[in-house]
Amino acid sequence: MQQLAIFGGTFDPIHWGHLLIAETALHQVPVEQIIWVPSLNPPHKQAAAFEHRLEMLKLATNDHPRFTVSLVELNRPGTSYAINTLINLSAAYPNTHWYWIVGLDAFQTLPRWYCGHELAQMCDWLIAPRLLGGETIAQSQLICKQVEQQLKNQSVSIKWQLLHIPLVGVSSSLIRQLIRERQSIRYLVVEPVRLYITAHNLYSK
Ligand code: ATP
Repeated sequence: MQQLAIFGGTFDPIHWGHLLIAETALHQVPVEQIIWVPSLNPPHKQAAAFEHRLEMLKLATNDHPRFTVSLVELNRPGTSYAINTLINLSAAYPNTHWYWIVGLDAFQTLPRWYCGHELAQMCDWLIAPRLLGGETIAQSQLICKQVEQQLKNQSVSIKWQLLHIPLVGVSSSLIRQLIRERQSIRYLVVEPVRLYITAHNLYSK
């Protein structure tokens, strides 16, 4: 059975934090590929055009032999729900053990995701600790355990582990804000992505 990891997100734009998370996952668990899944219509988010986000994702990942970008979300109209992504990918990649990569902030909301209880048990969770409220790794662990307990109370069991990444405060919103304020985003995104943003005048208003 092959082992694959899904990394879903808005990627608006993709930044170094995302790349570091994916690379860490490759080395921490025995997965063969990371499948990047840009969401078409993310729930609760307004985002730049899918075509731009996809192009930047490709620019940032195409030199990595174990990174694949999936267009699975393109085939589904309406809101992009994670469970449908996993169902569709399972049909495309049969006989696979799945991991799902997620940031701590998103993982905390898993019990409230659409069909979150079902999804929680369909894959192993790789959680990227995130500097939001100044969490330390110990606090991240505690937050994950609370989510696990919350699900357990509803008879849902879940397998998870924290990814050993250095805590990075970079986010797509920070990058969009810096662009609006005409500040530099060099080194926060890969250079081809920075050039793409400039060429297409993205996020400036
Ligand atoms: P935004 O700032 O617009 O909310 P984002 O930086 O969180 O965007 P997404 O594309 O929404 O980027 O993120 C995809 C996944 O990666 C989410 O699960 C998110 O929690 C996680 N993630 C993004 N950046 C980091 C980071 N610096 N550390 C840990 N997890 C992260």
